[in-house]
Amino acid sequence: PNAVETVGLRKVYGEGSTAVRALDDVSLAFPNGEFAAIMGPSGSGKSTLLHILGALDKPSEGRVIVGGTELSGLSDRELTLLRRRRMGFVFQFFNLIPTLSAEENVLLPVLISGKKPGKYARRVDELLDLVGLTGRRDHRPDELSGGEQQRVAIARALIRFPDIILADEPTGNLDSRTGAEVLVLLKESAARYDQTILMVTHDPRAASASDRAVFLSDGRVVDEARDPNPDDI
Ligand code: ADP
Ligand code: ADP
Repeated sequence: PNAVETVGLRKVYGEGSTAVRALDDVSLAFPNGEFAAIMGPSGSGKSTLLHILGALDKPSEGRVIVGGTELSGLSDRELTLLRRRRMGFVFQFFNLIPTLSAEENVLLPVLISGKKPGKYARRVDELLDLVGLTGRRDHRPDELSGGEQQRVAIARALIRFPDIILADEPTGNLDSRTGAEVLVLLKESAARYDQTILMVTHDPRAASASDRAVFLSDGRVVDEARDPNPDDI
């Protein structure tokens, strides 16, 4: 079965003469457990696609099916719950809360969902260990390096065992060694918990960690590569 599937996706921003066609007839299937890279030049529609796959934005036309459920049939409330229960988001600029510690930032999705943080005590320990931040759990974001902040963001994305991890340029502002470590972490988590990763990147080295790269140009899928090699991208 597929974790996420799209059929005939179109997205138009604006109207009339200023309308921008960001996605044009995109049909893709991401099988359970796949690590997919979404690539393409700036403005090709990568972020728009990721936002629609993550139910953060709606298509103008076409269907999005997550775990067998068609999203157009869900209310905004149901979409919010689907995101919280099934998805973990990792963005380039981390979006950490500056006044909270690393541990509190990791727990944020639990608190937002109204769950008792005590029930997640072991999970937090396990995740901080996985991302190598056990010794820095009480540090605030401004006391952490960029790579450490990104690792906090990854732990936060994973805390509620999402089926699907959506990452937008997760290594975009990291040096190459830290970026490679972050990708290893994502892959390890995905393998351990059978998660699907959908990652937007323009970095061929990041994409080479994936099982499949999908290339967009002007809102269309123009190519795909299995086990992409950085020299071929
Ligand atoms: P990428 O992530 O590949 O850089 P985007 O998905 O951000 O591409 O953008 C695709 C196209 O849609 C671009 O032409 C961009 O200018 C346009 N676009 C993106 N977001 C908006 C928006 N909120 N309003 C209007 N146009 C947008
Ligand atoms: P609410 O409806 O309670 O305001 P949202 O719809 O804003 O919640 O977000 C629901 C979930 O989707 C969040 O808990 C978060 O995991 C994810 N999410 C939405 N937007 C973002 C974002 N910009 N950055 C990170 N995560 C986001």
